[in-house]
Amino acid sequence: MGTPSDIKLIDENGLRVDGRTPEQLRPIKIQTDVLNRADGSAYIEWGGNKIMVAVYGPREAYPRHTQDIERAIVKARYNMAAFSVDERKKPGPDRRSVEISKVISEALQAAILVEQFPRAQIDVFIEVLQADAGTRIAGLTAASVALAAAGVPMRDLVVGCTAGKVDGQIVLDLCREEDNFGQADLPMAILARSGKVVLIQMDGDLTTEEFDRATSMILNATKRINQIQREALQGKYIAEQGGE
Ligand code: UDP
Repeated sequence: MGTPSDIKLIDENGLRVDGRTPEQLRPIKIQTDVLNRADGSAYIEWGGNKIMVAVYGPREAYPRHTQDIERAIVKARYNMAAFSVDERKKPGPDRRSVEISKVISEALQAAILVEQFPRAQIDVFIEVLQADAGTRIAGLTAASVALAAAGVPMRDLVVGCTAGKVDGQIVLDLCREEDNFGQADLPMAILARSGKVVLIQMDGDLTTEEFDRATSMILNATKRINQIQREALQGKYIAEQGGE
């Protein structure tokens, strides 16, 4: 998070590098049932991010010693394709992807009725095809749609967004320049109806007031994003009925 003073991220009209106002989201599109072999799948485009999610399970956890006799284990694997970023990403897991996989697994576990499936495992593969900041949240938001599309019983959908500090201002849904050259980045995800926080991380520094402003912007945005998730799922069911 460098802040080179010559990079201006907010112009004299208060607009951001991509022309957005501080509280404007990038365009978001979600589509379900994009992969035939998965039990559930979703594809999300969120600004410049393009991410595919495949869900398998619940199925018997393997190897057996990993089984939990009381609940299903949720294994999310976040992966960036080598071609997803400007500089080729070395294939395979790295510290960042291991961390992101862990926080996404925990967030999804809070939403899934895992106690209904002892000894089972639910696999969630998140493949980032094109990255443009905010991929962990976009991947998580799409993963919860893919789980619902797979018919995995859930308490609620997980929905998230990021906010951050750019040129001293709190803005919603950072793009890549803002993520790279801004002063703080705060990804957060909640259960859509209860509002329970299931993921929150922070890179950089915010004052308490800035933090409150950032989280309230995020909470506001999750309402709109949840609507897009629900429309994607309704689209799925309309398409299925149409095909009967
Ligand atoms: N990024 C990159 N190469 C990497 C990792 C990240 O170019 O190896 C870019 C990518 O666009 C990513 C952004 O940096 O979306 C921000 O990464 P961060 O770790 O903040 O996670 P994200 O915001 O994607 O959840």
